[in-house]
Amino acid sequence: MSHNQKEIKTEEIKVCCTTCPKECVIAVHLKKGILDSVEGEGCKRGEKFAQKEITTPERTLTSTVVVECGEKACLLPVKTAAPIPKKDMGLAMDAIRKTKLTGSCLMGDVVIPNICGTGVDVVACRSIKEENDAC
Ligand code: SF4
Repeated sequence: MSHNQKEIKTEEIKVCCTTCPKECVIAVHLKKGILDSVEGEGCKRGEKFAQKEITTPERTLTSTVVVECGEKACLLPVKTAAPIPKKDMGLAMDAIRKTKLTGSCLMGDVVIPNICGTGVDVVACRSIKEENDAC
């Protein structure tokens, strides 16, 4: 190597692609923090996922919300309607924990609109009917 050539360090990180159920473990090679190449991806979508993962990673958040139906209370499974930035997960969980619903709801109903300003709604994953024994 000549005097003027600086060695560019490469770094390897592993990410698990969550785009499809195959969940490929992809080795991502970075040069100065920028994606240089990927290895182990099962299809082209893996590189796109890896690129997003090293810049603005996102996840779908799933949790439960308390629903009070008369005398009873139960837990309603909820999820974000689309992935949200990983950095917002903590605040989003706090907002979900503080949420209480009353009465009936239908699967797909918006439980929390625009959670943490992400532009994504939290929606109900099942229906609850006040008059039956769903709770
Ligand atoms: S790389 Fe392709 S095949 Fe592998 S998990 Fe991602 S989407 Fe699925």
